[in-house]
Order: sequence, then C-alpha cells, then structure tokens
Amino acid sequence: MKNIAVIGAGTMGNGIAHVFAQNGFNVTLIDISAAALEKALATINRNLDRLVTKERITEADKAATLERLTTATDMNAGVSNADLVVEAATENVDLKLKIFQQLDAAAPASAILATNTSSISITKIAAVTERPTQVIGMHFMNPVPIMKLVEVIRGYATSDEVTTKIMALSKQLGKAPVEVNDYPGFVANRILMPMINEAIYTLFEGVAGVEEIDTVMKLGMAHPMGPLHLADFIGLDVCLSILRVLYDGFGNPKYAPCPLLVNMVMAGKKGIKSGEGFYSYGHGTKELIVSGSFK
Ligand code: NAD
Repeated sequence: MKNIAVIGAGTMGNGIAHVFAQNGFNVTLIDISAAALEKALATINRNLDRLVTKERITEADKAATLERLTTATDMNAGVSNADLVVEAATENVDLKLKIFQQLDAAAPASAILATNTSSISITKIAAVTERPTQVIGMHFMNPVPIMKLVEVIRGYATSDEVTTKIMALSKQLGKAPVEVNDYPGFVANRILMPMINEAIYTLFEGVAGVEEIDTVMKLGMAHPMGPLHLADFIGLDVCLSILRVLYDGFGNPKYAPCPLLVNMVMAGKKGIKSGEGFYSYGHGTKELIVSGSFK
C-alpha cells in the first residue's frame, strides 16, 4: 500500500494523515471544508515542529513528510488512486453510510475502506458497499501521533486477508494494533464508557465530589487522568452517544446513561469543547480555570 486517502480533517483526521505521511505514505487529506483543511495543515506543521525540537525527526524529515501530504475538497477525485481510505468524518451514522456508498463508487475496486468510528457498527457500514469483505475498523486513539493503540475491528464479513494487511500496516506506522470483533463499543469504549458512567453515578448519588472521584482513580488506580476529567476531554455529548449505542446494542440496563450526564448535555455543558463540563476551562483551551467547579 502506498496511496492513502483520509476523509475528514478534524481532530482525528489530521493526526491520521500526519502519521501516514511521516511513515512514507502518500496521503490525500479530504474534507468538505477548506477551512478545516487549512487548520489541519497548521496543526500538522506545529506537531512536526515539536518533533524537530525534541530531535525525534530532522528538518529534512519534516519537509519530506509535508511533501507527501496533499489536500482536496473533492472526495471522488481524492480517492481515485487510493490503496486504502481511512474515513474520519463526523460521527453520524447517516453521514457515514452516505460517504461509504460514495467511496465504494469512486475508489479503485481493490482499495480497502477503513473507518475510524468510535461506536458505529462496521458491519452496518460495510453492508452499504459492494465490497463488505474489504471494509474494516481502524480505530486510532486521540492524539493519534502519540497514542500507540489501533483497535482493528473486523466486521461480520471482513476477510482474513484484509485484517492481516491492516494489522501489518498499523505496525508499519509504529502502532500496536489489537484485533477485535464488531460488537457495540468494540473493546475500548465498552470498558471505558461504563467506567465513566459509573463515576458520574457516583457523583450523582453524592458519594463523593468531582475532585475526590478523580483523585481516587488517579492515585489509587494509577490512571493518568480521572474519569470525570477524561469525560470532559472526550466530550460529554460523545460519551452520551456511545453509551446510547451500548444500551441500544445490548438492551442491558447496566449501560443506561446517568441522568446527570443526560441533563448536562441538554444544558450545553459538553466539557472542554463548550468551556464547561465537570470542570471549567479557559475559553477554547484545555487549561483548567476552576477546579471542581461542578455543583
Ligand atoms: P471532528 O468533528 O473534529 O472532525 C470531523 C471532520 O469531518 C470535520 O472537519 C468535518 O468538516 C468533516 N466532514 C464532515 N462531513 C464530511 C464529508 N462528507 N466529507 C469529508 N469530510 C467531512 O471529529 P473527530 O473528533 O476528528 O472524529 C472523527 C471520527 O473519529 C468520528 O467517527 C469519531 O467517532 C472518531 N474518533 C474520535 C476520537 C476523538 O477523541 N475525537 C477518538 C477516536 C475516534
């Protein structure tokens, strides 16, 4: 595989494009928004500069990485010579089904179509294409250039050959791929989201305060960040929608989202992206301005 197309240039798409380009692949980064592409290129530039400063790569490596990276707003043209497409557009099922139908028509018949979805069924996405054996989940973690894990998710029809190729490719990127099957939440979010939900229930029931809950998990379980702080990072709206996927997918009440989480999302408190969640943040930054502000 040589030519990679990445669909969506947001938080995840820019990191995915960066990692492929840095590891020698030709990358076309595609977004419907020219402003998103511009912002993604600026982020990649900044992240590469940081690697140069830390002497992890040279100025020449940075220049070569940027040379391998092009951008496009026309998806059909952008994927026409792709060996692999990694879709990282907005998490919305109807949007993804539409994108995959379009990709199926525009990408070479031999291309593998991967999705970075956090929670949508790979099998459902594959079913709208004529090549379900070549559709797979490639779930990178945020921030992509730093986090080692790639959850490689086999849909119901994904072939052994395609799975083997994507596992090997992930290793070529310096990542540690883990093969999992396609059930709600896969592995990462099936375990993480109930933990976050339980932390929210612990707060809701008045067992302890925000900082107390996060401190127990940080100092007691050696988690780098407490679950409530992590929920603010992920986005409370994203946590809620993944919990709903788990609840709908398994029909088990243990996944029911805590009413406090539902209320906070309805009130527009989505975590860092809205400036307030369980903590308050400097506007548009990750900087904590009021610790444990939740009442
Ligand atoms: P984001 O909102 O930051 O970026 C999404 C981008 O997709 C936007 O730039 C938008 O303009 C673009 N887009 C929308 N429709 C498009 C289309 N039709 N064609 C091309 N581009 C289009 O989202 P994100 O956080 O980067 O998430 C992307 C995917 O990655 C989602 O499926 C999400 O579940 C998954 N994911 C996110 C995280 C995370 O921590 N943010 C972690 C793992 C996986």
